[in-house]
Amino acid sequence: MSNNPNSQPSSVLRTDTFDCVRCGLTVTTHAPDGGRRHHCPSCLHSRHVTDRVAGGPSDCRARMNPIAIAVLRTGDWTVVHRCTRCRELAAGPVSGDDNQLVLMRMAVRPLAQPPFPLEAFGDI
Ligand SMILES: [Zn+2]
Ligand SMILES: [Zn+2]
Repeated sequence: MSNNPNSQPSSVLRTDTFDCVRCGLTVTTHAPDGGRRHHCPSCLHSRHVTDRVAGGPSDCRARMNPIAIAVLRTGDWTVVHRCTRCRELAAGPVSGDDNQLVLMRMAVRPLAQPPFPLEAFGDI
């Protein structure tokens, strides 16, 4: 909140929001549970802005699709993203207000679409 006409344009301050590359939702980077958000809570898509291999920012900036759920040893869920351009993988923690329907759909996908016939288990 500054009306100071001499204030610098926002080149120094980092913004606290980003626009989702897929659904356009304006997302605040601060999650309600205190963490830092890396993906959209509505569609769970992300953007490739961090270079996980070299460290630091990435200039790829392509869309990252959520492809899987991973469960940490602590029981926390992690969303695995894959970049649509360079295929780099990234993982980020699930936030409390992430879309539970999308999360569940991803979590059960391997069970709903097994790559082998379930009959192989026989009659149990
Ligand atoms: Zn979104
Ligand atoms: Zn990328």
